Amino acid sequence: MNRTKKTLIILISILTISIIIPLNAFANPPTTLSVWHDIVSNNGGFYPTRTITYGQQKLNTNTNFHFNAANATAANTWSGNLNLVLNSTLVYNSANIRIQGGTRNELISAGWTGLPNNILGLCSWGQATATTTIIRNGVTHIIYTFSLTNGNRIAILDSNSTLRVQYVAAHEMGHALGFMGHSATGLMFATAPQNFPAQAIPTSNEAAHIRQFYARVP
Ligand SMILES: [Zn+2]
Repeated sequence: MNRTKKTLIILISILTISIIIPLNAFANPPTTLSVWHDIVSNNGGFYPTRTITYGQQKLNTNTNFHFNAANATAANTWSGNLNLVLNSTLVYNSANIRIQGGTRNELISAGWTGLPNNILGLCSWGQATATTTIIRNGVTHIIYTFSLTNGNRIAILDSNSTLRVQYVAAHEMGHALGFMGHSATGLMFATAPQNFPAQAIPTSNEAAHIRQFYARVP
């Protein structure tokens, strides 16, 4: 295996927490987590509802950039694993998850910053409120509640590769739904695979990682 030929492309998530306010609104905070599938000693989050909307803005007319289909597939993948309902909405500005797709320049024009050349996608948490703290194996994790009105945002870079777009959409939606770090392996690994799989699905541990946060939602 010639390792120098392997081009690694980085998927980066950024944290833009605008307001952090302690909140004790939940009657049933999680006490024990069985899985923490995150190598970054990072935090987790969730929307305080089981029905989540996502809106889409394709910033160009590239007919080979199958942006909407990828987002729909990603939504199906995660909703099935997390027992959530992810509904597409046409009202982009009030969607819980707001996904934009385009070239790097188009995304920059739309207000995205921090888009290095090798990036495939990006997730930005619009507003995350610290809800509880969990200490696991000596590491303190903060579990955030996402704002339903100040939606989390995703950027997906334009590509003619359907499998690539599908993979990036699934990865970034994992971030938007609550995976606030990266896995050592799996869909939420920070680096895209050399060959994109036909199906971009989280591992059972990755799904379990987020499912625990949503366990507190009725
Ligand atoms: Zn990522």
